[in-house]
Amino acid sequence: MSVKKTPGGQMNRDRYAELKRILEERRREILSAVHEKIRDVRTEGANSPTHGVLDAAESSEADIQDDIEFALIQMKAETLNKINEALGRLEEGLYGNCFECGEEIAEARLRALPFAVRCKDCEEAREVAAERERIWQSRRGGASLFMDMSS
Ligand SMILES: [Zn+2]
Repeated sequence: MSVKKTPGGQMNRDRYAELKRILEERRREILSAVHEKIRDVRTEGANSPTHGVLDAAESSEADIQDDIEFALIQMKAETLNKINEALGRLEEGLYGNCFECGEEIAEARLRALPFAVRCKDCEEAREVAAERERIWQSRRGGASLFMDMSS
């Protein structure tokens, strides 16, 4: 007899269910958007009997359009992968906690940003630190430029 592992590890069951719902909803949205896109592309193809007689400019425009559609579908596919990964981490109890401080990330934040790895406070602190770093780097850049000129 094996011990059944609790889904979500030590996570509160309500929170586990809520986070799962957020991720699965997002996944459904993306899947239906992708299906719609693919259907659109197919109908367009079927409804354009002039397809074979496009001049060069028109057909390259159509190619660009196809490329854009493809890029969009690919982007969505990548998001789907991320959602599946997040669901996997959720099962292991590794999803929804801040990477920096380990605190639970607010559900509202995860609903808006399902791939957030930091809580709001840590994210803000990080942005402030990044901004300081940027200013510091640009000052240092200026200083080394000055030294180069004087040597
Ligand atoms: Zn945090």
